[in-house]
Amino acid sequence: VGKHVRALRDAGYSIESAAGSGYRFVSAPDAPVPAEVSRLLRTDFWVRLEGGGVTDSTNDDARRLAEAGAAEGTAVLASAQRRGRGRLGRSWTSPEGGVYLSAVLRPALRPADLGPLPLVIALGVARAIKALGASPQLKWPNDVLIDGRKVAGILLELSAEADAVRWVVAGVGVNVDALEGDAAPSATSLREAGAQAGRAQVAASVLDGIAEAYREYLGGGFGPLADEWRARDALAGREVEVRDLAGDLIASGRVTGIGPDGRLLLETRDGPVSVPTGDVTLRR
Ligand code: ATP
Repeated sequence: VGKHVRALRDAGYSIESAAGSGYRFVSAPDAPVPAEVSRLLRTDFWVRLEGGGVTDSTNDDARRLAEAGAAEGTAVLASAQRRGRGRLGRSWTSPEGGVYLSAVLRPALRPADLGPLPLVIALGVARAIKALGASPQLKWPNDVLIDGRKVAGILLELSAEADAVRWVVAGVGVNVDALEGDAAPSATSLREAGAQAGRAQVAASVLDGIAEAYREYLGGGFGPLADEWRARDALAGREVEVRDLAGDLIASGRVTGIGPDGRLLLETRDGPVSVPTGDVTLRR
């Protein structure tokens, strides 16, 4: 018993002990630890939760599990990351006080049909944040904002053959507590938005949101989700520039919305344009 109590304390559980009379459970940790998260889940999608403490990158951990054959519905959780990553080699500031998780998905789709998946995951995260009491917007392709500031970031990585996806790892970082100083100047957090849920609850809500949106996408494509996305679109009507991975301008104009395939739609000087992927900045 003493050994198990020590392990629980190491994992952040508070347990009192009194000589001769035994132990008393005081509280669970406010951290995204698998045992706490799994009892808060509503969906039956998640078959295996790992992690819960500090790691380099949950995406790296999940990739390793995926390569080793982990089933769809496996997820790695962390309470902080030492080397959190964003898109295009950017870094994701990941201090204690956030929730970091990466999910292994194995969609039976061709790589060419994965275009909307980043938007699907973002929509799942937005639903979760809504359920936690805040009002999120979406910035194409997959940033989640509150009042124009980033509250969550998403990084999708995948391994595929010519006509089959082997695995997708969908990584999500959510700012729960406010970031300190100028760690990320355009960031906000669930706390700043008035949402009070503990971190295990945040993790469970995000996992449920992703599972539901992903299942809807597999069942009916992106079409039925597109209107919900549009209702949260932070870019509609804005003047933007879209650049490719190398930083070269792909298109510049006013956003008219997103297409049924998840592409960004723009009205440019040369007429309407639809962009499959890219990096959007607002034009002043
Ligand atoms: P951008 O938000 O600049 O359009 P992006 O969508 O490609 O870029 P991500 O890959 O999701 O961004 O995240 C990386 C960027 O997010 C970083 O360059 C930094 O500007 C910002 N950032 C890093 N950590 C955080 C955080 N914890 N909260 C909010 N924003 C962050």
